[in-house]
Amino acid sequence: ISHLGKSYQNAGRTLVVLDDINFSISPGSTNAIVGPSGSGKTTLLGLCAGLDRSTTGSVELNGIALDKLTEDERAEVRNRNVGFIFQNFQLLPTLTALENVMVPLELRGEKNIRPRALELLDKVGLADRGHHYPLQLSGGEQQRVSLARAFSNQPKILFADEPTGNLDAETSEKVEGLLFDLNRDAGTTLILVTHDLELAAKTGRIIRIKGGRVAEDIINKHNA
Ligand code: ATP
Repeated sequence: ISHLGKSYQNAGRTLVVLDDINFSISPGSTNAIVGPSGSGKTTLLGLCAGLDRSTTGSVELNGIALDKLTEDERAEVRNRNVGFIFQNFQLLPTLTALENVMVPLELRGEKNIRPRALELLDKVGLADRGHHYPLQLSGGEQQRVSLARAFSNQPKILFADEPTGNLDAETSEKVEGLLFDLNRDAGTTLILVTHDLELAAKTGRIIRIKGGRVAEDIINKHNA
């Protein structure tokens, strides 16, 4: 990303959330974005993943300049390259756990998707919860379904917003394990937004956002 900026207009006022952010993420690396609440981490993640459009600057994802694309083209690039785990899971409430995991596979036009989605649910320990609707699942279970959904299109890059927020220690460890396994086994690049500094310390790089800028950018040679 290069000279990235994002402002919001609210009630006639301009709120500058991000201002001149620059960094480049290596394929296959693990990265944490940290910073105070409201510093723009979620906004930054959404811009990097092509979910939202920046006000200034540019984002290149897997060699594709996102800013020049239409909404539909960006969706297509996301579907091919990106997995996203949202802070509040964002499972579709009218679909079962299994159907939620099937959505990205359907969007890619894949065949025989039910067994593949079941396999993914099994991987996150929820093979027996496939028929449950999101409201019939605990918070940790919903988080694991959202992980299975994010894994399903075998993303090159996985963006996760507070993947272990609100989870108990045991579930948190399980989710962390799944994320780092994906990085080790499939070479998926991880970009995690987190307040959990212990989780951040397990990644290869910590980017700290403050006042809309990169305040610190630390490579952890031990994990890089
Ligand atoms: P947290 O750690 O609390 O999740 P964050 O660092 O992820 O926070 P963001 O969610 O990116 O922060 O929000 C950054 C700022 O942008 C906040 O002050 C928020 O109020 C503002 N903001 C976010 N989305 C919008 C929007 N759609 N319209 C107006 N302001 C917004």
